[in-house]
Amino acid sequence: MRILLLGGTSEATALALRLSDIPGVQAILSLAGRTSAPRLPPVPTRIGGFGGAEGLARYLRAERIDALVDATHPFAARISANAAAAARAAGVPLVALVRPPWQAGEGDRWREVSDMGEAARAIGEVPRRVFLTVGRLELDAFRAAPQHFYIVRTIEPIAADALPRLVTIEDRPPFDEAAERALMARERVEVLVTKNSGAAATAPKLAAARVLGVPIILVARPPRPDGVESVESVEAALAWLASHPAAPETLRGV
Ligand code: NAP
Repeated sequence: MRILLLGGTSEATALALRLSDIPGVQAILSLAGRTSAPRLPPVPTRIGGFGGAEGLARYLRAERIDALVDATHPFAARISANAAAAARAAGVPLVALVRPPWQAGEGDRWREVSDMGEAARAIGEVPRRVFLTVGRLELDAFRAAPQHFYIVRTIEPIAADALPRLVTIEDRPPFDEAAERALMARERVEVLVTKNSGAAATAPKLAAARVLGVPIILVARPPRPDGVESVESVEAALAWLASHPAAPETLRGV
């Protein structure tokens, strides 16, 4: 059984690792190539775009893929739409592995917004010290709110003038709560702006903000493509794959 995993998340990597030692299963992990030094698991990997939905459909046919798993980031809307269209065109069963969004709990001060522009406006007129963890490709929207001082954390380096007033921090998940609290206290963070990625590896900043009484502006997820079955965990994705007609016995027993 040949499986293509669209990745770029820890769940995709975990699923690829689980599938890698199952006899009769060949899983290929696909990454976009955004991170210059990704932590690659010891599984067959391909890197780079396919050339739109048509390119992905061609790949599915050429590589005789039996099942497609879209385990990309909840904010990677284009590849998820392409996966839905390509799976339909090539007649390949598709499942989306989407981790649940974070939910506000007792003591949280969250404001949900629909996009980065609204997030930038929601910080307000008064200059604030803003912890910005939205990814380096989303910084432009905050140029419209230059009165704030931004503490920007990204995996890849960003230009020193990406925003008029900023300090940059290069680091990659996982993060822990004590370190997040120390960082936010040291930088005198007044507002946290983040995407609702739902990732466990980046969730400690939410707990740190709660403890410090820092309000959060949370960018909601983009809509998902219609008509695609979805599961929330690696285990559920394995169960979905095991129920596939092409699944070998070895996968059914996992
Ligand atoms: P996107 O806007 O949905 O996709 C843009 C293009 O990148 C796609 O059309 C596709 O190119 C290519 N691509 C995306 N994911 C790919 C994959 N897994 N394998 C091969 N090609 C892929 O995606 P994005 O938001 O830029 O995210 C890029 C990657 O980073 C994704 O794999 C995602 O899981 C990961 N990521 C994203 C975020 C985020 O906040 N957006 C955060 C963490 C990780 P073609 O059309 O040429 O096929």
